[in-house]
Amino acid sequence: MTKLKFYNGLREIGGTFVAVETDTTRCMFDFGFANADIIDNKVKVGDKNWAFDYVNLGILTPMDGIYDDETAAKLGVKSFNKDDKKNFFVISHMHIDHMGGLGMLDRGVPVYMSSESCTLYKHLAKMRDVEVREHENCIGIDYGKSFTIGDITVTCMQIDHDVVGACGFMITTADGNICYTGDYRFHGFHRNITEKFADDAHNCDVVITEGVTASFDDIDMLSLEEPENMGNTEELLQEYMKEKSETEKGLVVINNYNRNVERIHNLINTISKAGRKLVLEPEQADYVKAFYPEDKVNVLIRNTDNRMTSQEKEIKERENCDIDSYRISKLDFDYTPVTLKELKDNPSGYVLQQDYRHIYDLIDLKDAVALYVHADGSPLGDYDPSFKKFHMVLDKLGITHEYKGTGGHSRPYYIRHMLDTIEPKVLVPLHSFRPEQVQSLKAGKRVLPEYGQSYELSGGDLKLVE
Ligand SMILES: [Zn+2]
Ligand SMILES: [Zn+2]
Repeated sequence: MTKLKFYNGLREIGGTFVAVETDTTRCMFDFGFANADIIDNKVKVGDKNWAFDYVNLGILTPMDGIYDDETAAKLGVKSFNKDDKKNFFVISHMHIDHMGGLGMLDRGVPVYMSSESCTLYKHLAKMRDVEVREHENCIGIDYGKSFTIGDITVTCMQIDHDVVGACGFMITTADGNICYTGDYRFHGFHRNITEKFADDAHNCDVVITEGVTASFDDIDMLSLEEPENMGNTEELLQEYMKEKSETEKGLVVINNYNRNVERIHNLINTISKAGRKLVLEPEQADYVKAFYPEDKVNVLIRNTDNRMTSQEKEIKERENCDIDSYRISKLDFDYTPVTLKELKDNPSGYVLQQDYRHIYDLIDLKDAVALYVHADGSPLGDYDPSFKKFHMVLDKLGITHEYKGTGGHSRPYYIRHMLDTIEPKVLVPLHSFRPEQVQSLKAGKRVLPEYGQSYELSGGDLKLVE
């Protein structure tokens, strides 16, 4: 018998946690943070207690077969070592709301993801850009390839989202198949990939889809017509950045999300055509070079003593140096260093890529900055407690700023287009504040699960069992 069990992330954006379970095997997805607003970095979490604390705060799901012995005992669940089932995860992509919890799993849990996600994850870990610690038992699967654990077979299906490596999964058991979309869009560089995903999933038994853009306005999804244009696309952002680089007199700063590697790869070229150089933060440079080793990168050096001999690097590392110096010490490719002073001396020669974490660099640069472009970087919107502070800083420094993001999620019409193309027997929308607004006449039926509910999959139907 195959059961689908639903936990976190059903009526919110983040922390999706679903288990597909047979008598012997349990496949789970994803493992990011739900209820993430509750996290406050000013509050100390015990080193050994991360998973325990986060389960109690509703950020992670309490579950058999995924935590270490000590944590599981405290939570009153079976640990990974003591559970009889073959437990494993599949992770759709490297956004924190889908993978932030990986460092809190028992170290033995096998975690499958696309090969590209696996590459990115290893670089995130190398740059100390993951929560708690690296989960080492991660296994990369090429797009289109399948693997089998116990009596569950999973196929990794590429999809387009605003992060490298995004995929969905077709999960097959003796009782039927379940398609999990992960997050997706049709307005990125690769609409064809998302279209192919829909075609390949055609007629599956169950589709579990994200519904992020159905969260905000009142929408009658069934009556939506195809929009005349796609709105802000990745291509339009490139054109915008080219135009601003050509017309602005001073330094242009872009706050992007550094895991959208393809955007930055293209931007290197776009900015150079406009006669400027794009300067990257060290971790961003590392992520780009991991996928585009032929790219030539300029890296921001905050202080000159970061240019060290290997011996000096070792010492600083042992001494637990600051994270930026650490990251620079980890760059294992050729790059052109650019200092803050060089940006100030020649502001029209550069575009600076900058994470919100470094916004105080603008205090030094403010007279040089002509325009600050907010393009899908953190803090994303007013639901983020930092959003107000972010604007306060820019206003205080008198820096002109524009929002020019594309978003990673399908506009509502295209969610329906996805579902109309797939024509599933059962539709399960989640990862949305208003999943009830996600509809398709081509779906046989729709299920809106509640936390903790189990459904039995058989004969192409889902029936509530407990
Ligand atoms: Zn995402
Ligand atoms: Zn998401």
